[in-house]
Amino acid sequence: MTRLFGTNGIRGVVGPEMNAELALKVGRAIGTSFEGGPVALGRDTRLSGPMLARAAASGLMSAGCDVVDLGVVPTPSAQYFLAKSGYLKGGVVVTASHNPREFNGLKALDARGMEASREEEEAIESIFFDGRFRVAAWSEVGSIRSDDTANHRYLDAILAKVDVASIRKSAFTVVVDPGNGAGCVVTPYLLRSLGCRVISLNAQPDGAFPGRMPEPIPEHLGDLMRVVSEVHADLGIAHDGDADRAIFVDDKGSFVYGDKSLALLAKAAIQGRGGTVVTPVSTSSLIDDVVRAAGGRVVRTRVGSPIVARTMFETGAAFGGEENGGVIFPDHQFCRDGAMSAAKMLEILAHEGKRLSALVAALPPYHLKKANVSVPVERRDAVLASLVELTKGRKVDTTDGVKIVEADGAFLVRPSGTEPIFRVYSEGRTPERADALAAEGVDLIKKALGRR
Ligand code: MG
Repeated sequence: MTRLFGTNGIRGVVGPEMNAELALKVGRAIGTSFEGGPVALGRDTRLSGPMLARAAASGLMSAGCDVVDLGVVPTPSAQYFLAKSGYLKGGVVVTASHNPREFNGLKALDARGMEASREEEEAIESIFFDGRFRVAAWSEVGSIRSDDTANHRYLDAILAKVDVASIRKSAFTVVVDPGNGAGCVVTPYLLRSLGCRVISLNAQPDGAFPGRMPEPIPEHLGDLMRVVSEVHADLGIAHDGDADRAIFVDDKGSFVYGDKSLALLAKAAIQGRGGTVVTPVSTSSLIDDVVRAAGGRVVRTRVGSPIVARTMFETGAAFGGEENGGVIFPDHQFCRDGAMSAAKMLEILAHEGKRLSALVAALPPYHLKKANVSVPVERRDAVLASLVELTKGRKVDTTDGVKIVEADGAFLVRPSGTEPIFRVYSEGRTPERADALAAEGVDLIKKALGRR
């Protein structure tokens, strides 16, 4: 069966792939899978958001769903609203997360606010492709109403779960760059509530993304790094387009890889109580060292936040997250939580009484390097098969993509689930080794691409 959902919902370029017709049909399919029950609907700031959200709403209502329209919300804000509602059957968020401007997407959420499982997605896909839509009778057609309380509830819930007094006492200076995405409507206000001196960049919602591209990677965060060092801020925070991820810049203006912030947040979460930390195979071995030292254990999964969240739920994990800045706090909710990560990082700085640059420097010395290589979608499977061939005879982990493990480092190459690229993640004991292993990964992909 053809798939509709990638690793993180349905994504595509607006117009040819992602359009009103598709959103309507997906809305009908999701509404059918929810048996016409009430549904929350949210979106990020993308220009096509209103069009797609209204089309999806029509599809949902045609299946008999009453729709609660949350407007522009970070994905975790919609998830929190949903989980706490007690009556909603599920949710739909119109977002393409970190993808470039021309993309948009649709994400289905279950009644607990968790991203739909693969089984739930398959159920929606089978309704979609078989055209088995629920069609409500004239008197059963769904209604729609607006509710603008989701962001307030989300913000209050975060404030209830961090040590506000300590953070306020520290009076941090923070530069926040929500990248004109959904984080604009929550994080600057959260930081102000935490007593920070807040300097914001790209903090007006704008789906044209005039300030920077939505993915929080070093190449897109030059302004943030510069401003943090120029104003001598304590911390820089960047979100992706739907603010379920938070990436940090230290007090020296240096980009902190998500693997490192994840290790710091994991340590704080399990220190003194142990527990399980769930993370995909793409995360650096740094997490293993840090979690083991803090008395916990690491469970590895395939890449994708839904699988991490589900595994956390099933194993009763204390903490989990990804190397890209997506972090899950199960005491709050089972989904990636950008604003919550930001608040927790400030709590760590307040409790430790140290600069972020010092905390990062004190971590076990793993040097990381990441790279992307364009690969046409139709070549994806062939390239992956060639990679397996090309790495025969080496120590390989194929949990997801191809991971080559060597004595002094490792690298993983895998296709992105949302974009026509392969990602390369490498780690080494020295920066040179990390660079060399990343270069080897890039070369391997190019070699595989060259084969026919
Ligand atoms: Mg995201």
